[in-house]
Amino acid sequence: MNCTIVTIGDELLIGQTVDTNSAWIGQQLNGIGAKVHEILSVSDSAEHIIDGLRRASSQSQIVLITGGLGPTKDDITKHTLCEYFGVKEVYHEETFEKLRVIFEKRGHAILELNKKQAMLPSNCEVIPNDRGTAPGMWFDENGVVYMSMPGVPYEMKQMMTNYVLPKLSQRFTFPHIIHRNLMTCGIGESSIAKMLDEFETQLPKSMKLAYLPDLGIVKLRLSAYEVTTAEAEAEVDLQFDKLKDLMHDYAYAHEDIKLEELLGTLFLARGKKFALAESCSGGYAGHLITSIPGSSRYFEGSTVTYSYQMKEVILGVKKETLQNQGAVSEACVREMLEGLLRVSTADYGVSISGIAGPDGGTADKPVGTVCFAVGNREHIITKTYHFFPRRMENIRLSSITALNLLRKFVLGELKS
Ligand code: AMP
Ligand code: MG
Repeated sequence: MNCTIVTIGDELLIGQTVDTNSAWIGQQLNGIGAKVHEILSVSDSAEHIIDGLRRASSQSQIVLITGGLGPTKDDITKHTLCEYFGVKEVYHEETFEKLRVIFEKRGHAILELNKKQAMLPSNCEVIPNDRGTAPGMWFDENGVVYMSMPGVPYEMKQMMTNYVLPKLSQRFTFPHIIHRNLMTCGIGESSIAKMLDEFETQLPKSMKLAYLPDLGIVKLRLSAYEVTTAEAEAEVDLQFDKLKDLMHDYAYAHEDIKLEELLGTLFLARGKKFALAESCSGGYAGHLITSIPGSSRYFEGSTVTYSYQMKEVILGVKKETLQNQGAVSEACVREMLEGLLRVSTADYGVSISGIAGPDGGTADKPVGTVCFAVGNREHIITKTYHFFPRRMENIRLSSITALNLLRKFVLGELKS
């Protein structure tokens, strides 16, 4: 069962509004086993809308449309749907009554402009809008279902959840889709591809492996389509187990969660706390942690010491260390971490110091050189990595790396 999503609106094409509707609709359709084929965004022009609908219906049995349903002149989706189906608009009493009540509650008489919203294509089934004035329209023509919804995300979501998804499940029989996610850190996409070459070759045709990289993290998504039997489901588990084994050294989770969330689970389960001492990451690692609700239960805090002086005064890094080896050195990060564990009551800590760039690199310490220390009061391990020439990438990557080193240390998986 193929679906096409058509989003309508000039604002989408000039980048004024980001098309979040299709991403959300895509997730929902995927959840019921409907496969999205294509997402089209078209302008508020009858010609483009009709072209889009023709293209969508030539390849899909389900066409979900958002936008262009407002009462104003710029919103032409409804008239265009009439033109497309060759039908007229007819008065819809129930919709008019609903509008009248909405306006009455607001203490206004209904506007002429809104009365027009009760005129609807004669071939549609009206779908209620519980959060706004523009009703939805369901068409079932020549084996294709078209559903036109408002562009306002909060109205569209309500309509999808309460009416459209249940109606689609009634109208069509969807196959079951299974996705399994393996989250990795500390290895690039192409290195993974090399490691998984044989694995991918032996995968059954009904399964697909997708690489979804983000800076420092690669999500591996194993998907099985058209799953109809329990054996097929067991086969997905079997393949996913193989993947887990192959990626064992790099996988941090077997479900789609962020590294910073995973750390929360690890520390809560152990009843332990951690803290950070940041330099080149400028507090970004702390920001990742504090973005997770409830992190105060296991996170003590982060120091951001950028200058030599702050490193000396707050963390007790020795002047000689800074002068002889520089701030970007394993000796410095070790002292930063020792200082952090003196000033906080955290059980574990990580420190980060590096050259984010674009300036400040030298021959032996080029831009992207970042040193880390991770450990507790008994044992500290230091590491040096070489990342990118670009500043923001170094900031994010050093933060992610620090969190991953902490994870490995806590699990006893980090070798010095
Ligand atoms: P409309 O139904 O065209 O009157 O759209 C109303 C409002 O919904 C617009 O001003 C946008 O802010 C928002 N909107 C429309 N389409 C989308 C979309 N695809 N994704 C997110 N927001 C949208
Ligand atoms: Mg619009």
